[in-house]
Amino acid sequence: DQETSYTIIKSKETTITAEGLKPASVYVFQIRARTAAGYGVFSRRFEFETIPVSVAASSDQSQIPIIAVSVTVGVILLAVVIGFLLSGSCCECGCGRASSLCAVAHPSLIWRCGYSKAKQDPEEEKMHFHNGHIKLPGVRTYIDPHTYEDPNQAVHEFAKEIEASCITIERVIGAGEFGEVCSGRLKLPGKRELPVAIKTLKVGYTEKQRRDFLGEASIMGQFDHPNIIHLEGVVTKSKPVMIVTEYMENGSLDTFLKKNDGQFTVIQLVGMLRGIAAGMKYLSDMGYVHRDLAARNILVNSNLVCKVSDFGLSRVLEDDPEAAYTTRGGKIPIRWTAPEAIAFRKFTSASDVWSYGIVMWEVVSYGERPYWEMTNQDVIKAVEEGYRLPSPMDCPAALYQLMLDCWQKDRNSRPKFDEIVNMLDKLIRNPSSLKTLVNASSRVSNLLAEHGSLGSGAYRSVGEWLEAIKMGRYTEIFMENGYSSMDAVAQVTLE
Ligand code: AMP
Repeated sequence: DQETSYTIIKSKETTITAEGLKPASVYVFQIRARTAAGYGVFSRRFEFETIPVSVAASSDQSQIPIIAVSVTVGVILLAVVIGFLLSGSCCECGCGRASSLCAVAHPSLIWRCGYSKAKQDPEEEKMHFHNGHIKLPGVRTYIDPHTYEDPNQAVHEFAKEIEASCITIERVIGAGEFGEVCSGRLKLPGKRELPVAIKTLKVGYTEKQRRDFLGEASIMGQFDHPNIIHLEGVVTKSKPVMIVTEYMENGSLDTFLKKNDGQFTVIQLVGMLRGIAAGMKYLSDMGYVHRDLAARNILVNSNLVCKVSDFGLSRVLEDDPEAAYTTRGGKIPIRWTAPEAIAFRKFTSASDVWSYGIVMWEVVSYGERPYWEMTNQDVIKAVEEGYRLPSPMDCPAALYQLMLDCWQKDRNSRPKFDEIVNMLDKLIRNPSSLKTLVNASSRVSNLLAEHGSLGSGAYRSVGEWLEAIKMGRYTEIFMENGYSSMDAVAQVTLE
């Protein structure tokens, strides 16, 4: 009855070990299988009670538990996903259960065969009070640093402490909310020198600012993927406090694209998008929802590899100049955010997919501002009414279709990041599939897609139509160029 949180752990193994459980607490485990056919149903609940703190402490003093989930709640529902449920045979332990259920039943694990509240033997007990976190081989899930009572412990669990003397600061390359961002070099003993970016925490910070600043490192340090910005370490033992990451020569993607307008091949653009999608797939697999995916938060290196950056807790959005306060008080980058996240803060990987669609649009239009100078309120209203960004110029039809898929109102109908990666891989392998472009006349009709068609006489004048699609400011230009009737507009072609 007290459950308020749970952890989902995916595993390809038939065995897992849950470590660092809180003493004297009841834990509930459920298992489900995943195969090519999708997810199976959850097993019944397996309930276990951990031994009291005094016994745990006597076996290892250092094992004071810091629980990965809320410390105030003594119950965790752990869902273990294992791909072997279809197998009907029992594992070696001879308990007569399907091998998948024996994932929790091997004698070497903390759980006994079958459903039992029996006390475990002392050897087994040692395993699960180890370092305060549930750690399972071959399984990686994101741990919210907020769940640590002491944020310093979180940062040291996930980030390496670097001696300030190993860092040479060269020049200032940007400004973050907490202080300057510099480029420089990192020379760790026994390693070759690396170019790095160094974020500094300005002097006179409050304890909360320090916590929020280092929160980003606690998150980044949990990731290890070629399309996620890599954390080298942190400097916390001397001042200024610093976060050291790999150096991305071409800076943030939005600025980079604006600077190089029209300079890339479609394949290069799709390659960038593929990288971002792969990074996002990794994050969503780890259970991390970014909430602020936008070209400004992607960094580009000298090989055009794009990496997702800007991780934070509440900080991410407070730090983003694009984020605006909504009527409910949250701060949200409206133009990049899915309607359900704006309306009722339903941030999920599916809302990240919506933002990814906007990033696709930014990339293909070389850093154009989504919805141009429309106000945030107009954007919210237009999107709610079904209006979607029109295709960028010279956009392959397959890419625009993918954008529209990411902007499905029903979040369950949007593609998942793994599907996006697969789709982009297919396009890259078959470049001729990118030759069909969205042409100018269908760009116009796309503008109208959700507003009735030109031919049906839904609009009496060009001005009325442009107003309806929030483009009223272009009325004069249409008139000056001879597009004074809806019939004339319908004839617009690329030429
Ligand atoms: P941020 O506070 O993370 O938004 O960083 C501010 C700016 O510093 C970014 O917009 C980039 O231009 C630059 N920057 C941040 N991290 C890096 C990096 N790893 N490599 C190169 N430039 C970076």
